[in-house]
Amino acid sequence: MTEDVTGSKDLQAMCNLVMEKDSKYVMQTYGRQPLVLSKGRGALVQDINEREYIDCVAGIAVNNVGHCHPRVVRAIQAQAEKLIHVSNLYYTEIQAELAEALVSVTGMERVFFCNSGAEAMEGAMKLARLVSGKSAFVAAEHSFHGRTIGSLSVTHKDIYRDPFMPPVSSETIFVPYSDTNAIRQAISENTAAVILEPIQGEGGVNIPKPEYLKDVREICDETGTLLIFDEVQTGFGRTGTWFCKEQFGVEPDIMSLAKAIGGGFPMGAITTRGDIGFGLGQHASTFGGCPLACAAALASIEAIKEDELVKCSKENGTYFMGKLRGMEREDVVEVRGKGLMIGIEIKYPCSKFVDFARENGVLLNCVSDSVLRLVPPLVITKEQIDTVVDVLEQA
Ligand SMILES: *Cc1c(COP(=O)(O)O)cnc(C)c1O
Repeated sequence: MTEDVTGSKDLQAMCNLVMEKDSKYVMQTYGRQPLVLSKGRGALVQDINEREYIDCVAGIAVNNVGHCHPRVVRAIQAQAEKLIHVSNLYYTEIQAELAEALVSVTGMERVFFCNSGAEAMEGAMKLARLVSGKSAFVAAEHSFHGRTIGSLSVTHKDIYRDPFMPPVSSETIFVPYSDTNAIRQAISENTAAVILEPIQGEGGVNIPKPEYLKDVREICDETGTLLIFDEVQTGFGRTGTWFCKEQFGVEPDIMSLAKAIGGGFPMGAITTRGDIGFGLGQHASTFGGCPLACAAALASIEAIKEDELVKCSKENGTYFMGKLRGMEREDVVEVRGKGLMIGIEIKYPCSKFVDFARENGVLLNCVSDSVLRLVPPLVITKEQIDTVVDVLEQA
């Protein structure tokens, strides 16, 4: 695309202005990429210079149905004209419909709506304390469950935790991930719940041994401990099944959801089985399950079904990982993943790869320093995957 000289100069000035305002007015908590994004469609995003990128970040495993899925856009538009928010003092049809749809796709029985992953984890922890009458938690090393003071208490990484200690729950025991004996030893009379991601995301796309989650389920049953799965990142087709738990054949007592739930719109949820649940007045959230978020989430679930995105995730994931493993590069330690949740562990910090890829039209991000995490929209095409692999190979 040719741009007249003045035009591109203006755009560059606009970029600079955005970045200047950000550095002046926004708390500098994010190490941002030097990109000003303005549009997206499917697996592609555009910056304000109209340069296109294949998006292997997808808003951090949020845009599973692709950017601005027409079904989600239409649902948001239509709902916004009718009713945006009314509080949970009243019923709305759309919230009831979404609850039914969520129960159907998760295999869980009841749901509580909130607004983010951390809020879902906070609620899950409160609920575990409420129903067990116990207060301690067992969580895994390299876990990530959110940044609020409660969810941080079960998040492992020092740089996230240390400045904010002591934790709310001083009784959290962190155990090595995928180590059954460690769980058995860590559970005490005061353990309310074991909290695990079925695949660790921020911790580096870590996949447990096939029998691990089943064994943990057994130990929890034997000891009367609740099992909480944090499927905030692994949910909604990301790993090649609707939810990752299906691949391990294990049902948790409580499961937290967020990220992809709203097709890009902010939402979170706690789902439970059996008689586990909050009673009247025991938990609340002003915005939780507001009509606009529910409309987006319902449309997103319908889009995943209609476009067969769970199948796409599985097939494209297999294709993607096959190509990545075929690269046989010396600097690659391991390619691992399930569906379209893929980690490439390399021998050195991966920020240079992220820069190179961006300059060549691919958005990537880096978790735990040396793992490139690829979590593209599930609608990514084989051609787009080929392009990403080419760029990675050059990098
Ligand atoms: C992102 C994430 C969270 C936190 O979600 P927020 O919406 O950022 O609060 C919690 N758990 C897991 C597994 C996540 O990936």
